[in-house]
Amino acid sequence: MAGAWRPASGGATFPVRDPSTGEVLAEVADATPEDGIAALDAAVAAQEGWASTPPRTRSDILRRAFDLAHEHEDDLAALMTLEMGKPLAESRGEVAYGSEFLRWFSEEAVRISGDYRTNPEGTGRGIVLRRPVGPVYAITPWNFPLAMATRKIGPALAAGCTVVLKPADLTPLTTLFLVELFRRAGLPDGVLNVVPSRDAKALSEPIIADRRLRKLTFTGSTPVGSALLKQAADNVLKTSMELGGNAPLLVFDDADLDEAVAAAMQAKFRNVGEACTAANRFFVQEGIADAFTAALSAKVEELRIGRGTEDGTTIGPLIDDRAVDKAAGLVDDAVQRGARLVTGGERVDRPGTFYTPTVLDQVQPGSDILTTEIFGPVVSITRFTTEEEGIRLANDTEYGLVAYAFTTDFRRGQRLAERLETGMLGLNTGVVSNAAFPFGGVKSSGLGREGSHEGLEEYLESVYVLTP
Ligand code: NAD
Repeated sequence: MAGAWRPASGGATFPVRDPSTGEVLAEVADATPEDGIAALDAAVAAQEGWASTPPRTRSDILRRAFDLAHEHEDDLAALMTLEMGKPLAESRGEVAYGSEFLRWFSEEAVRISGDYRTNPEGTGRGIVLRRPVGPVYAITPWNFPLAMATRKIGPALAAGCTVVLKPADLTPLTTLFLVELFRRAGLPDGVLNVVPSRDAKALSEPIIADRRLRKLTFTGSTPVGSALLKQAADNVLKTSMELGGNAPLLVFDDADLDEAVAAAMQAKFRNVGEACTAANRFFVQEGIADAFTAALSAKVEELRIGRGTEDGTTIGPLIDDRAVDKAAGLVDDAVQRGARLVTGGERVDRPGTFYTPTVLDQVQPGSDILTTEIFGPVVSITRFTTEEEGIRLANDTEYGLVAYAFTTDFRRGQRLAERLETGMLGLNTGVVSNAAFPFGGVKSSGLGREGSHEGLEEYLESVYVLTP
């Protein structure tokens, strides 16, 4: 914070564990509410200087941070795999994806511009300025410890905002190293301040209640996002909320089977299923359902469980015991209500928190798995008959982050784009995340977008100057 690493003011630390062994990897400073306010003090003090720093300088620092992330790809990937569990190849993928937000927004930083307008009466001329909103508080989850931070830091710094960042207590190490890379990239003191803490609520409440804060950006679960929105309301704080998902994955009779299976594997098993974008509910049309289920199950049985650091591992551990209990509970409930267990459905008898990749077919209405974010390696298949029924089933959820659909009928693709209640649609693809596009959801999946020029807008406000 304020350009220097320091212990927590209370002197306490908390352990970070390797979910594949349960062993403690490191002890991290446990920031107190006083440390949180000190971090905000530093961000407030740095705000004016950073906002008036030439855009080219801000851009160059972001670009250097991007280059450093690539130079340290192995270190970042190793930290991520150790604290979060995903296989090393996927951690490298996250370095590529997450760092791209630094490059993308380094390029956006020098393209921020207002405009000049005349009013319709012809009696006034106005200039519209774009200004940074001011100090930002960013809260990130454990599942993508690098990318969820860069998606916020990149646009905030590009726009000229300073940041207080609170990483998830389960995975603070990757984020701490990312912040160190920004220091090495020449970021001025106080512009980016990181406060790991085990007690997120106690740390966050005074920061959010402080009138000097101008923006809250959060990625995490819908219940926590909803509680934060209530706190933010007191000061009418600008907010961005990237919340939970319950993604439908629709496979129509006319889909290319091999393409649909390969993409579905990515949409479901990337990040061990612990992704807000993970396909949660598979809806498969009757005519292709047997072939799809058989082909997908064969691929699922090829997945190899292991530590993320071991060669050949394609499925790492879940983040903790609660995550395993949740996946197991949802599978048991679905089977009791009549689903057919095709493969998997077991806890793994080894150290760490593992659950076998699982396929459930003919999941029945009313099963908890259809209304709950699974966050684990479990496929839930329900069959449908008509396109109308498929769309109705897909939209039957409070969430609307992402949907996937597989069809070779272009017209159907257009109808789906217009009728599915979602912020993003993967049409014949299983991965939608990309720095160049606006990532975000509708309904209870959130407010605002990250990535693309829309992502920058979240950190800017307009001021107009009218002259006769
Ligand atoms: P979470 O809501 O439990 O925690 C997210 C962050 O909020 C963590 O840093 C946590 O410490 C903090 N937090 C928890 N309670 C808080 C409180 N009362 N006040 C302030 N901060 C608090 O979520 P999680 O388990 O870390 O992450 C998984 C969730 O995140 C899933 O629902 C997933 O869908 C969602 N997610 C969404 C996106 C997206 O872009 N929409 C991306 C990744 C994850």
